[in-house]
Amino acid sequence: MALGKDYATQECSIARALEIVGERWTLLVVRDALYGVRRYNDFLVHLGIPRAVLATRLQMLTEEGILEKRRYQESPPRDEYVATDRGIALWPALRALGRWGREHHGESALRTFHHAECGTELGSYGECPACATVVPVEDVLMAPGPGLDPDPADPVSRALLQPRRLLQPIVVDQV
Ligand SMILES: [Zn+2]
Repeated sequence: MALGKDYATQECSIARALEIVGERWTLLVVRDALYGVRRYNDFLVHLGIPRAVLATRLQMLTEEGILEKRRYQESPPRDEYVATDRGIALWPALRALGRWGREHHGESALRTFHHAECGTELGSYGECPACATVVPVEDVLMAPGPGLDPDPADPVSRALLQPRRLLQPIVVDQV
């Protein structure tokens, strides 16, 4: 029997979450939104995602209230996509996935995450060991790690070479 489209028969909150974010591009779009990517073209160049897939995922994430569509230009009309509280709440899941990928595939860190107030690297649960507090997403400073390509081709990756707070908007000049 073919697997159904969803997991409606499973009484599990993980299954319900996966109905929304279980497809790999979806979580990568959310990850980029938390990094501060907001514009269609910036998601496109940074993710290397097919256009049609990106358009579908952005629409779905907007309908699910994970991203909010905001008009930033009227003529021609252009929208950007900003992570909502519901989207920001996915950060611990993304952080845990990143950590798992590193520890179980022996990769060196592409990015490191720090408490912006004191510079201390965050612990496994998003806490600052020095301040003994869980650091809110907007106070997380993301810095390039040893595994990161120092000379990337796309402008979003270049913007991400500088330490920056999560959610701080990335706006790349489109030529
Ligand atoms: Zn701290």
